[in-house]
Parts: sequence; C-alpha cells; structure tokens
Amino acid sequence: MFNYCPRCGTRLKIREEEGRKRLACPACGWVNYENPLPSSAALVRNEKGEVLLVKRGVEPGRGKWALPSGFMEIEETPEEACLRELKEETGLEGKILRLIGVYSQKSQLYKNVLIIGYEVIAHGQLRPGSDSLKAQFFPVDKLPQIAFSSHKEIIRKGIGQEK
Ligand SMILES: [Zn+2]
Repeated sequence: MFNYCPRCGTRLKIREEEGRKRLACPACGWVNYENPLPSSAALVRNEKGEVLLVKRGVEPGRGKWALPSGFMEIEETPEEACLRELKEETGLEGKILRLIGVYSQKSQLYKNVLIIGYEVIAHGQLRPGSDSLKAQFFPVDKLPQIAFSSHKEIIRKGIGQEK
C-alpha cells in the first residue's frame, strides 16, 4: 500500500469518490485505484485423461499443488500468458482449446485475483521450471490437495464434473 504519491511524493489522503474511499494525491490528483490482478491458468490432460499439476515453489500456496498459472504481463493476452506460464512451469508447449471460465480468487497477498481458466492441449517433455518444484499428471480421482478454490472449479468444470 502507498503512503506517498508515486508520481510526485506528496503524502496521500483518503478521498471519497462515488461512495468509495480511495487514497489520492491532493497535489497532482493521482488516485490509488485497486483492482483485481488478472492471471491465467491451464488445464492440461494427457491421453489417459489425467490432469497436469505443479507443486508451487512460491507464495501463495507454496508447497501445494495447483494448475500451471500466473499473472499476465502488461503486453500479453490472457492466452499468451497461459501458454507462457505452462511452458515456464512444466516445459510443455501448449495450444489453447477453449475458455473454461473466469473466476475470482481471494488472496491474502493480492486481495483479489481474476483467474482465467483455459483448456490446453500440450506436448513435450515434463520439466518443472521457474516457480514450480514438480510437474506431474494425476488421475482425476486421485488429485492431491489443490491450493486454490478457483483451480478446483476450473478442474471440475474442465473435466465435466461440474455440479
Ligand atoms: Zn502526486
């Protein structure tokens, strides 16, 4: 959180705008807008229908399993972010098959993350990379504990077991 204006260095003050309190700069007018962070996740299944998961090497969810995922870089589309994260975390080359859904994930670190889940077809040699300790396919009925509720929803919907 900011105490001083990142643009001019003046101490920020709370300003009420459309019924919502935001920190703003009384000198230059900069406003500290807080928005969810967009992130993409990949649901990849092998020929046996098993789901690809990575053991996370970074917070949030360090040491737990999750879909390959990560934040969009400023120049990327959600699809590009999805395939880049898949490549970085698992070594696999992917192709987007379809959008599974868009979900909100509450986060202690980032408050609210917008998760865009894609079904992806992938090939190559599994090789855990940046931010992931392991990358492994799991049978649908033997999934380990998943770090994020949004990823569970993407898996459920992606494999057609949505309630
Ligand atoms: Zn300012």
